[in-house]
Amino acid sequence: TADERCQPLRGAALDEVLSSTDNFLFDCDGVLWRGNRALDGAPAAVNALKRLGKRVFFVTNNSRRTRAMHREKLRRLGFRAARRDVYGSAFLAAQFLRLEAPPHGRVYVIGDAAVCRELSDAGISYVEAGPEPAFGDVEQWTNLPLEPDVGAVLVAFDEHFSYMKLIKACCYLARPGCLFLATNRDHAELVAPGRVLPVTGSLLAAVETGAARQATVLGKPSPFILRCIAATSPGGALDPARTLIVGDRLDMDVAFGNACGLRSVLALSGVSSLEDARGCLAEPARRHHVPDFYIESVADLLGAAQI
Ligand code: PLP
Ligand code: CA
Repeated sequence: TADERCQPLRGAALDEVLSSTDNFLFDCDGVLWRGNRALDGAPAAVNALKRLGKRVFFVTNNSRRTRAMHREKLRRLGFRAARRDVYGSAFLAAQFLRLEAPPHGRVYVIGDAAVCRELSDAGISYVEAGPEPAFGDVEQWTNLPLEPDVGAVLVAFDEHFSYMKLIKACCYLARPGCLFLATNRDHAELVAPGRVLPVTGSLLAAVETGAARQATVLGKPSPFILRCIAATSPGGALDPARTLIVGDRLDMDVAFGNACGLRSVLALSGVSSLEDARGCLAEPARRHHVPDFYIESVADLLGAAQI
């Protein structure tokens, strides 16, 4: 029942979960690292699970790195990781286009070089938005040159996001049949008191508003992630009943787990708090954000994993 959810994962419950779980999906920022620093005990815990023979995946909504770049960062911070274990939102979006929605024409990309690299690795041709000059004139805005063969728009993090790119994306999205995809919807990061960093969700909201359309998101909480693992991981599909997601955001990681029938663990080392999770228990509209378990940090998995 709902009352049995949102429990601390320790003692007998932790032993039971570890023995009945084959596959561990780890969110990255806020769970394994914060910025450029590994969280205490996280590499040891993840490496211990791998030594036990568990399948470990790294599932991040950060679109600014390719699989290879994420793998490098994981290794630098002390995690045993292979490229094939990394499911970043840039890779996921590219694989969605390859596996499930081959576009009619090229993809207009609002995003950076990592997104373009994943697209080309997947054999998808694209138009890179690139930095655009500012005109500030209605005539010139109205007559912006458009590519005739664009059949999809993909929105990811783009530090050079601009009004020009917004216009172009919305024009392409007005074409009949144009696909509308996004890597993720994370809207902002609170990086320090009084310092907010708006991220991809903020850019996406601008495009969705202008185009009067909703994008299909391929990062968390999209169930496409499990289909992508089934199609691309050498070990094949995961049994949801024997799979655990550990994340720090109720609306991304826990929502993903609940949408896919995985067990979910909220790590309190990042964005969402225990109060947030308990608040969801009381709110019918957010019941799908309630985690099965919570832990203070990933290091809490270590003791039991070493037995
Ligand atoms: N998007 C961007 C641009 C980020 O910088 C981050 C975190 O650093 C995220 C999304 C969230 O990543 P994760 O899913 O690993 O928490
Ligand atoms: Ca996170």
